[in-house]
Amino acid sequence: MTEPLRWAWADIDLSALRHNVETLRAHVAPRELWAVVKADAYGHGAVPVATTALDAGASGLCVALADEGVQLREAGVDAPIMVMSEQPESQNRLMLSNDLIATVYNTASISNYALAAKSLGRVAKVHLKIDTGMHRVGAPHVQAVQRALQIVGEPSLQLDGLFTHFATADLAHHPATVVQHERFLQVVKDLRAAGINPPHIHVANSAAAVRQIGEKCTMVRVGIAMYGIPANPVSDTFGVPIDLQLLPVLSLRARVSHVQWLDAGEGVSYGLKRELTRRTCIATLPLGYADGVRRELWQHGNVLINGARRAFAGVITMDQMMIDCGSDQIEVGQEAVLLGVQGIVQITANEWARFLDTIGYEVVCAISPRVPRNYVRSAR
Ligand SMILES: *Cc1c(COP(=O)(O)O)cnc(C)c1O
Repeated sequence: MTEPLRWAWADIDLSALRHNVETLRAHVAPRELWAVVKADAYGHGAVPVATTALDAGASGLCVALADEGVQLREAGVDAPIMVMSEQPESQNRLMLSNDLIATVYNTASISNYALAAKSLGRVAKVHLKIDTGMHRVGAPHVQAVQRALQIVGEPSLQLDGLFTHFATADLAHHPATVVQHERFLQVVKDLRAAGINPPHIHVANSAAAVRQIGEKCTMVRVGIAMYGIPANPVSDTFGVPIDLQLLPVLSLRARVSHVQWLDAGEGVSYGLKRELTRRTCIATLPLGYADGVRRELWQHGNVLINGARRAFAGVITMDQMMIDCGSDQIEVGQEAVLLGVQGIVQITANEWARFLDTIGYEVVCAISPRVPRNYVRSAR
């Protein structure tokens, strides 16, 4: 392995990613798998993740912002890229000139996008997003046919897809998922009755894809499962336990930068919040909350050193943290694992999520850009 740029880094295991994409692709076949790489691929690095996912059989990519699509194009990615919600009108030309597939749902946006496409002499692919009950974005399901007819009536637009998004796919047997799915199937039926048959039909995020919801669709939009993180942190599943053998892709590591033996009665870090009850080896790691290791984690979280779980000796500071290693002699330069496996012990993003009352998604997205990403291929 190459020497890290800093004594704190994230390993991104592209073999694990490939394994996950292949596993999920087999699981959802014959539907296409589109890899969701928004937010810098959930903190994993958009370009290496996108190219690996495509290489492993993903049919396209999904992003949240026009800029995220442009970044992929500039890196030479020529696969289909869809932007999953409407963008400001200022982005229309950028979207079109980079051949990004737009999502639309408002009448004004459809007209504006059609006009921009016309002025560039293009026929632009769009996906119509239907709100079936999540109430984030989308055309109300009762207006779907009207909105689809508007798109079909614009010669500079091509209705390439129709989709919706679930609010509760990661909650086992939640009735809202069934309601949303039924509404969507009705929309598909109504469109067909009006002679409209978009080539791409999709509903499933990771949880729905894992649970085989939306089997009649043509594609799935998979994010968190591809990164090997179960969507629901409480049950640590995708809603219901399904054994798919997905592997975490990201691990967060550091090297011990300083070691001290402190006597009983001493405290460590800001506020000296916890008094040591015995002579203790304290290891400092050179990363902190500015790197995305949330300060609240100090109370209940652990770090792995020498293959064992260790508690924090005090609060996490902006750039450093101190770890209570008990009576074990730790050396400067030893590797510590904040997320990942060491020996037979593992700390997952969902473990942090439970302590922090959040979800694994937020844990990995929060790992800041100042943490170098080190791309590795584990032997598998
Ligand atoms: C982020 C997002 C996804 C991916 O969700 P995961 O739970 O990470 O699979 C899919 N669809 C839309 C519309 C999204 O915003």
